[in-house]
Amino acid sequence: MKQTSQKSQRTEHSDVVVVGGGAGGLVLALALTRMGRTVAVIERQTKLLPIARGELLQPNGLKILDRLGLSELLKTLPSHRAHQFHFHRIGGKRLCTVDYRTLPPPWNYTTITQPHHLLNLLLQEIHQTGRGRVLTGTDFRELLFHQNTIAGIRAEKDGRLIELRAPVVIGADGARSRVREAAGIPFRLHTYQEGYLTLVIPRPTGFADDARYYVGRGEILGLFPVSDGELYLFYMIPADKREAIRQQGIKTITAAISTIDPALAGPLQAVIAWDQVGYMPCVRVQSERWTADGIALIGDAAHAMNPHVAQGRNQALEDAMVLAEVIQDGFTAGEFRQARLNRYEMKRRPDVERLQKMGDELTLLWNTTLPPLAWFRDRIFEGMERHPEIRERVVKTISGLSIRPMGLFDRLRVFMP
Ligand SMILES: Cc1cc2nc3c(=O)[nH]c(=O)nc-3n(C[C@H](O)[C@H](O)[C@H](O)COP(=O)(O)OP(=O)(O)OC[C@H]3O[C@@H](n4cnc5c(N)ncnc54)[C@H](O)[C@@H]3O)c2cc1C
Repeated sequence: MKQTSQKSQRTEHSDVVVVGGGAGGLVLALALTRMGRTVAVIERQTKLLPIARGELLQPNGLKILDRLGLSELLKTLPSHRAHQFHFHRIGGKRLCTVDYRTLPPPWNYTTITQPHHLLNLLLQEIHQTGRGRVLTGTDFRELLFHQNTIAGIRAEKDGRLIELRAPVVIGADGARSRVREAAGIPFRLHTYQEGYLTLVIPRPTGFADDARYYVGRGEILGLFPVSDGELYLFYMIPADKREAIRQQGIKTITAAISTIDPALAGPLQAVIAWDQVGYMPCVRVQSERWTADGIALIGDAAHAMNPHVAQGRNQALEDAMVLAEVIQDGFTAGEFRQARLNRYEMKRRPDVERLQKMGDELTLLWNTTLPPLAWFRDRIFEGMERHPEIRERVVKTISGLSIRPMGLFDRLRVFMP
């Protein structure tokens, strides 16, 4: 762990410092402030701007937001409640429908919303506790130590160095975490070959309330209603062809999407410039440890996963809730050594590793350009359609309520009549 002796121009004290104001960091801050702790969050971005994308809040994430008393407020945000996900072969028939209503109520649906809506809600709630402070436009610089024990962080805001002192520091700063690097925690970062162009467009008239996935050979198009009048659309592209695709012009992409679903041709006419389109690269992070003395990593900083499982953000929320309890116990015990913080990792790692593995398996089959693998994938979807018990197991896993991905027996069964 690196230590420097640069001078800071301001020093603040709190119980906990969180680096990164994404969903993981803000939920942790909210949970801790509700437990009576003072928390300082630093966030590199100066403003929370709407971005052209949506995200699924799965039943496990919704349950956590409910525990934090946010269910009613969540209903007031622009969002959409979806029950069914239909999988279609591009240019072919519907292969399978996954239905969340097979889950036990009340957590038998997903909420699709644009991420900034949830983040704004969390910021507002943290502010209301009077114990949380979120410093935007503030960049993590280094960890601070006192007699080899963590003492806080140094950050840069408006060109000035500030010190945020606390006995425990959380790295909630995403897949390329600088806290992880400063703590010297070894990790592996894998960049998937495909990324996604993302758009939010007016919802075509007659578009059903449910979400739709089109899979082809090396082609994926997802359509998720994101509010009453809007549709979130994601279209897979090879990450290394992004620039070449841009050069071809936006109309090449909107035409390709309209060919898959002609109902989108009308709303896509409004897309005329690349600044209306987002891009999301996909990475997997495997950190050797999620904790060190006085330090813990959560969310993508510890374990980014392929978005096919639609659980990354929800898992960050799960981390936050487990870690908040462990930190609170640390205050009672008066120490935050790794052995204590590690209780959080012990509890969380098994589920996360199962999801990361599942994300890789889905990537291999869903993203494939190879005809035999695409054939195999389509047979699995059709087999799931014939076997409701396997479908239910898949929904339970994706919902985050019971993470038990398909076993060998299920894989054999999907090929049976
Ligand atoms: C195409 C795609 C679709 C996805 N869809 C879903 C979905 O439907 N459902 C789902 O659950 N997940 C989904 N995910 C995954 C999800 O987006 C991430 O897992 C989630 O955002 C992780 O949350 P986090 O809080 O850990 O990190 P982040 O959301 O990455 O937040 C990290 C924060 O830290 C800040 N930061 C970084 N460095 C610094 C620094 N040096 N100093 C200060 N601040 C810093 C960043 O600005 C950022 O705000 C998807 C991912 C992709 C790529």
